Amino acid sequence: MNRKTALRACPVCGKRRAEILAAMRYAVPEGFPLPAESDIVACLGCGMVYADTSGTQADYDRYYADFANYENPNGQGSGMEGADARRLEQSVDWLAPRIGAKNARIIDIGCVQGGLLMALARRGFSSLSGIDPSPRCVDLLRAAGFSGHQGSFGHIPAECGKYDFIIASHVLEHVVDVREAFSALRQLLAPGGKIYIKTPDAGRYYNRKGTLPFQEINQEHINHFDLFHLDMLCAAHGLHVTDVVRKSIGERQEQNYAVGVLLAEKEQEACIAPPSSEATHLKQLFAAYILESRRRLDSFSEKIRGRAVAFWGAGRGRNGCWQTLSSGGKRRSSPLSTAIRASRASVSRAASFSLPKRVCVNSPMTP
Ligand SMILES: [Zn+2]
Repeated sequence: MNRKTALRACPVCGKRRAEILAAMRYAVPEGFPLPAESDIVACLGCGMVYADTSGTQADYDRYYADFANYENPNGQGSGMEGADARRLEQSVDWLAPRIGAKNARIIDIGCVQGGLLMALARRGFSSLSGIDPSPRCVDLLRAAGFSGHQGSFGHIPAECGKYDFIIASHVLEHVVDVREAFSALRQLLAPGGKIYIKTPDAGRYYNRKGTLPFQEINQEHINHFDLFHLDMLCAAHGLHVTDVVRKSIGERQEQNYAVGVLLAEKEQEACIAPPSSEATHLKQLFAAYILESRRRLDSFSEKIRGRAVAFWGAGRGRNGCWQTLSSGGKRRSSPLSTAIRASRASVSRAASFSLPKRVCVNSPMTP
């Protein structure tokens, strides 16, 4: 077992002793704010799995403000595209009866262009606000008639008040300082209010069909929660979980995306969860996912060995194929690394011929 003192404290329990599950390398363009390398680790204190990134929250804020593509018209969360729109409507089907009063003060943190707020407005909810680090997303939000604030968990704008219902959907997996985020959530919550949390369920990455190897390990998703660790976080921050849902989102059965959903409300006291054997499940399932990804990547690299390879349409998933992986802290080039280096050289050559910008090594995520 390879252990280390992590650069980044565990997002759930705050400890730093961790076991290295994988060492990831990412191909990044010049001036990219996020580090090109990070270890995926399992906390020895609580079993949480996370990226031990050297990037600060300021680096990530800059990335989301300047490099991510969520402000694009068909970006995830915009509700403009068919599958995205249907996903948001389904979320509102679940949320509407749990929010209750149509005049409840609602805020969506990390709201991007406000697709979910628009879906709520169509159901008659009237007090709708959003926070996002991207100034372009905030402009779009205001243009759509909502109260938009530029900010993040670490920088909640002073004009924000208290809210009856807080939405943190697909955001906590992106946050460097998760404990600071939970303090902010508690602070924004009005008495009797509720918090809705949705994240990918890392306990179900393994054996998911129709995905690329290592697809779930990328530079945006730096916290790999399962429901156990989300519940533990809520308890540690004085939030009582009232609803827990394991669900899958996606149009096609084989590509369903496993997510965990929690609804929580404020309690008076924070409490420490008792030690549980469930804490180690995530590490075991994650290790199985890494093994499965490595086997698939090795099998793929065997097929392309000695051949010229071109990727068209570089995105998060393809970037995952360009990653090199080593295990146990000692770097070992995978069989694909030759292809990766060749691809990167090709990208440089392509750039000198002014090919489209999409021939870029690290473009932002899609769902
Ligand atoms: Zn921990």
